[in-house]
Amino acid sequence: MTPEVVLGIDIGGTFTKFGLVDKKGKIYHEDQISSTEHPEIEGFIKALHKYLMDSLAKLDRKFKLVGIGVGAPNSNYYTGTIEDAANLIWKGKIAFVELMEEQFGLPVVVTNDANAAALGEMLFGDARGLDNFLMITLGTGLGSGLVVNGDIIYGSDGFAGELGHVRAVDDGRQCGCGKRGCLETYVSATGIKRTVFELLSTESIDSEFRKIPFNKLKPKLITALAESGDPIAMKAFERTGFLLGRSLADTVAHIGPSRIFLFGGLAKARKWIIDPTKRSMEEHLFPIYRNKIDIVASALLTRNIAVLGAAALSWKKLHQVTI
Ligand SMILES: [Zn+2]
Repeated sequence: MTPEVVLGIDIGGTFTKFGLVDKKGKIYHEDQISSTEHPEIEGFIKALHKYLMDSLAKLDRKFKLVGIGVGAPNSNYYTGTIEDAANLIWKGKIAFVELMEEQFGLPVVVTNDANAAALGEMLFGDARGLDNFLMITLGTGLGSGLVVNGDIIYGSDGFAGELGHVRAVDDGRQCGCGKRGCLETYVSATGIKRTVFELLSTESIDSEFRKIPFNKLKPKLITALAESGDPIAMKAFERTGFLLGRSLADTVAHIGPSRIFLFGGLAKARKWIIDPTKRSMEEHLFPIYRNKIDIVASALLTRNIAVLGAAALSWKKLHQVTI
């Protein structure tokens, strides 16, 4: 029998990744194209279509493609547009869903990558059966998907739930959004690097980090050094977790989740980030919420959650799954 699949697409600043995904989360075919080769969105969509059709024709197995789900920065679930995404080369307001549907002749749905990740966890991960939870994606920035009463919160304009840009520190670090002290300037791969270098300038303790230039530093290395007992690495995680936990305590008061999932390079540090975050969240929580909320790494930590989440979005739109 020809398997029914949807196309899950994750549009990033450098690459656009995609995969054919069935209802159970099995990815049959995965690939990527450049996000920067086509200055016009129309050219990009044509290239994506041609590339996909050519690769499908070459596969031994045939698939029935029934829909397309897309995770993209600054995308709007309601209007199907991508609006002024700082990391993408296409500027202004793009009628993305309309252009995609014209090209592919299939139903297309779009949301931001963190909302897609939350849906991925709901359909294919450990959020199955949970009606209230929070997904935090820790990449270059901090993304968040809020699920309340069984559904993603999109808000009145489609952009609700940007926890990366709540204020974590008064007059704090400059953020790419133009504000100061946003949570993602502290809690993200870039944020923890900035913390490491800040600690190196204020502390005189010896550390392996003193030999490493800023652009060579990856979260993986910070984790490895924390494991080996480096005091700067341990302090950096402690400070990052403190700020994340304090913000999460506020978010808990707003939406009452039963579990909080962390995803991304920094989440792979597991206990190094989870333990201080949990301690700080509990300390800052309104007492009635204490000792009720788990903070865990995503079950899809080693899988392509962005593609799986975009696929989950499409399956949900097609009403072929209940989540
Ligand atoms: Zn910001």
